[in-house]
Amino acid sequence: MKKQFLIASTYVAVALCIVFLWISMASAFDPEVVEANPKLVNLSADWKPPTVYNVTDGVFVAVGYARANPVLIEGTDGLIIIDPAESETAARIVKAAFNAHLDNIFAKKPVKAIIYTHYHDCHIHGATVFAGNDSPEIISHESLPKNLFSPPGAVYSLIFPTKSYRAIKYMGLPYQQDPGYFINGGIFPFSIPGPSGYLPPTITVQDELETTIAGVDLVLMHAPGETSDIIFVWLPEKKVLVQIGNFYKSFPAITTTRGASFRNPLDYIASIDKMRSLNAEYLVMIHSGKPLVGAENISRTLTNYRDAVQFVHDQTVQNMNKGLTPGEIIEVVELPPHLANDPYVQEYFGQVDRDVFQIFSQYMGWFTGKCRDLFPMSPTDEAQEMAELAGGVDQLAAKAQDALDEGKLEWALILADDVLLLNPEHAGARAIKNAAMISLAEETYNAQTHNYLLSEYLEETGQITIPIPAFSRIDENLVVYMPMDTLFGIMAVSLNASKSLDKDIVVGLHLTDLTNTIELADYTMHVRRGILEVQPQIPDNPEFTVTTESLVWKNVVLGKLDPQEAVSEGDIVIADADPQELYNFLALFK
Ligand SMILES: [Zn+2]
Repeated sequence: MKKQFLIASTYVAVALCIVFLWISMASAFDPEVVEANPKLVNLSADWKPPTVYNVTDGVFVAVGYARANPVLIEGTDGLIIIDPAESETAARIVKAAFNAHLDNIFAKKPVKAIIYTHYHDCHIHGATVFAGNDSPEIISHESLPKNLFSPPGAVYSLIFPTKSYRAIKYMGLPYQQDPGYFINGGIFPFSIPGPSGYLPPTITVQDELETTIAGVDLVLMHAPGETSDIIFVWLPEKKVLVQIGNFYKSFPAITTTRGASFRNPLDYIASIDKMRSLNAEYLVMIHSGKPLVGAENISRTLTNYRDAVQFVHDQTVQNMNKGLTPGEIIEVVELPPHLANDPYVQEYFGQVDRDVFQIFSQYMGWFTGKCRDLFPMSPTDEAQEMAELAGGVDQLAAKAQDALDEGKLEWALILADDVLLLNPEHAGARAIKNAAMISLAEETYNAQTHNYLLSEYLEETGQITIPIPAFSRIDENLVVYMPMDTLFGIMAVSLNASKSLDKDIVVGLHLTDLTNTIELADYTMHVRRGILEVQPQIPDNPEFTVTTESLVWKNVVLGKLDPQEAVSEGDIVIADADPQELYNFLALFK
């Protein structure tokens, strides 16, 4: 009895702390509460309350506990986990939920396999938590390890700073604890940051893999779309389809405000058609709410979804072929009513007009085909011209105010931004821009738009700071698995062009632990007047040669380890030169 009381009071104390945190954060922001479109607010009900759904015999999905919905399949002598959440922290919460709902199931049966549906963060980083000491097989598409670290798609590559910065903004990460600001992510309720527990795959799928794990028959099928490495999981006996990426409860994001590489709509369509052909009775969605049930219902929903993708793709291309620019195409392409009214095709996350721009650029690149777009103007030059047209900077600010007063919020945002480009201290324009961003955030039901607007508002008003994450912020667990190619890509884009413009330095690199592995052990790093060229052999006449382990070199390059410390510890050995030459060489990359 006494113990129960202790637990209860501890619980209350923790709960109070959370409440205080929310209150203090809420009162820190100005305004304290931003209204939101009821449609976006109502979407949150899909994840509330957090629920472990029993889809059918032995299949469970945890909805509303983490960024995605991890799936647990119970077999005769073990468990299968699909998509173990976005961090070890999130995975612990999900695992506890499964244990609570399923009578401590992880104490009774070992985890035999963990399946990743694709490489995106919300599907891989909780693996260690579910693996425990069970040494499960880790299963993914064969291209997942490459996709995780290779441009153009990967966050953990040469675009880490910009892509993670924009991911923070489009998720509304800095204010997710503040109910006055954060609603949801459109296809996820929130995100739980924490360390990566990614484990590399031990079994990979090419086109299709039929297997039996813990007595459960599974078919894993390659289904590219949102990423090139998506696999879905089909349980033929149970008629359960577990899928991600090519179908969630929103019009798909062929592009995202975070920044996304090529997502081919034709791949989406082919992959959804593969799903339709299975006649599933249960459809588990890893990014939306509770599972869909009933073959007819699933078939109709999937058909509408692929039709919406095809309609937007085909009509975009048809209008491209008539010579229209993307800006003109978005005026004529809109979903017909039978698709526009489908609850699974609403623009909570993806948006038709953005996808039109992306489809256009996938086929044609940046150039619209019109001469006026051959000469892109710098935003500041354009703002200068706008100010001249208006009769001066203050007059331009007055035009922005007029636009705001007339409810032309997007135009008010552009004009106010132009004024701020010319005079960042212009208080009137700042107030107009803030008002426009808040009003646009209140109007939209697109979660990406809502979150991005509020992030920029809070950032520009100094209420939050979002430093662009440096390469040193890449999780140490991921650095272990990062290929050398990725590291050299990061080195190359980190080279300081002006510092190195008169340099011509050849350095050898020998990575002792990579001898006799599939990765090469020897490299030439040649800094030559503003660029870094890397070749896969030790150079003939280097200025000096560095001998070390790959993880040490990766940590030094990424800024996670001080090179002087590594040298003094004996972890880096330099032949033919003073260590100072290495420090000078590395200083070129700052
Ligand atoms: Zn995801």
